[in-house]
Amino acid sequence: MSDIKSVLEEVTARYQQETEFVQAVNEVLRSVEVVARRDPDLAKFGIFDRIVEPERTIIFSVPWMDDEGDIHVNRGYRVQFNGAIGPYKGGLRFHPSVNLGIVKFLGFEQIFKNSLTGLPLGGGKGGSDFNPKGKSDTEIMRFCQSFILELSRYIGEDTDIPAGDIGVGAREIGFMYGMYRKIRGNFKGVITGKGISYNGSLVRTEATGYGLCYFMEEAIQDLKRKSFEGAKVTISGSGNVAIYAAEKAKEMGATVVAMSDSNGVIYHEKGIDVETIKSIKEVERERIKHYLSIHKDAEYVDGSDRIWDLACDIALPCATQNELGVQSALKLIGNGCYAVGAGANMPCTPEAITIFHQEGVIFGPGKAANAGGVAVSGLEMTQNALHYPWSFKRVDATLRKIMSRIYKSSKTAAWEYSDTQNLVDGANIAGFLKVASAMKAQGIAH
Ligand code: NDP
Repeated sequence: MSDIKSVLEEVTARYQQETEFVQAVNEVLRSVEVVARRDPDLAKFGIFDRIVEPERTIIFSVPWMDDEGDIHVNRGYRVQFNGAIGPYKGGLRFHPSVNLGIVKFLGFEQIFKNSLTGLPLGGGKGGSDFNPKGKSDTEIMRFCQSFILELSRYIGEDTDIPAGDIGVGAREIGFMYGMYRKIRGNFKGVITGKGISYNGSLVRTEATGYGLCYFMEEAIQDLKRKSFEGAKVTISGSGNVAIYAAEKAKEMGATVVAMSDSNGVIYHEKGIDVETIKSIKEVERERIKHYLSIHKDAEYVDGSDRIWDLACDIALPCATQNELGVQSALKLIGNGCYAVGAGANMPCTPEAITIFHQEGVIFGPGKAANAGGVAVSGLEMTQNALHYPWSFKRVDATLRKIMSRIYKSSKTAAWEYSDTQNLVDGANIAGFLKVASAMKAQGIAH
């Protein structure tokens, strides 16, 4: 039964090591202070104490054998953060940087993102500190099978539905789904992002990147009377989100001049060839530098953050958390950037976001701008339940409608509660209101 200030103090002191989680909680709770002032019942019902505490945290070992017969053990996580508005839903991340703090931050963000989609989905997230880079397909398969063997005890189509994230794409989802199906002996849509040949949804692969462009196009037209048409765009990362953001930005008439990976940046003045990136990243699994062997007129620089030194109208950080700090924000603004859309989760530091707001740069926060992925995952669940697949056109049109609704509800909440166009506050407030109302209505088991 605490107010926001005491919850923030408690979280900051108790979870000092979980810096990303503390950062995410700070952002959301500061945004909803104004809601708390208007509705004292929220503190009375312990909503703030309860919303920062995962309902369930599962940590498990993942033993697997490499191609030489050597045994390795990684750590697996699943945080079932908040199920007030629906079954837990959120991706799995395989990356050496994964730890409990990272999974908690992602799971916490997911609560509000899922609420914003308007679909009945609670928030969760999971993953492992396993590094898929450099592993053979058979090693990846053995790891995925061992991971899902344990995780399968805790998930189900009405309880918790994982999907992909960094390091977990079509290949990994396929291996996990195949093993899950064997363990359970049934064909349920318990993981989303499945292949089209086995009950996946059209547009799921493209959804986060496309959705990001739909959201930003609406924001840019509404707040700046500008558009992707004719704009120069830079996109960090070259994974699932980045590739399909590039494809859609191009389709909307923009020129994507730069993309990156964790090693460096490619710059192609006449516009990056997205099909080449797809082939390098999705088929060959090569470094982005390889682009130069195909496009001789492109340039490469070492260092992933160098992408923010380049002039652009619209910047789309689509790689990872806190990849864009103050210096990069100042560079972007100095070079004329007027809009930044977060394809990744929490890619900009709080200080960078403050600068964007001060300088009138439109900032689309991740939990709103990248919600297209989970939205189409929700549509995949619907199609699985109906046993009937929808056309590309139908899913894409629904995605666009959802992104437009998310933009409008974020803008309206910002306006109603803080008299600003601050989409960070707006998204946090709009996402929070539904979850808090469900938590209040459902009471407390005691
Ligand atoms: P992928 O694994 O497909 O791609 C990740 C990209 O980011 C790669 O280019 C990778 O480069 C780069 N990257 C990863 N870590 C770092 C780092 N520490 N520094 C610089 N670059 C890095 O992941 P996704 O595209 O799926 O996810 C990207 C972001 O989008 C994440 O924040 C994720 O949480 C978020 N997101 C993803 C959704 C989805 O549907 N996939 C939905 C909503 C959000 P390299 O290959 O060199 O590691």
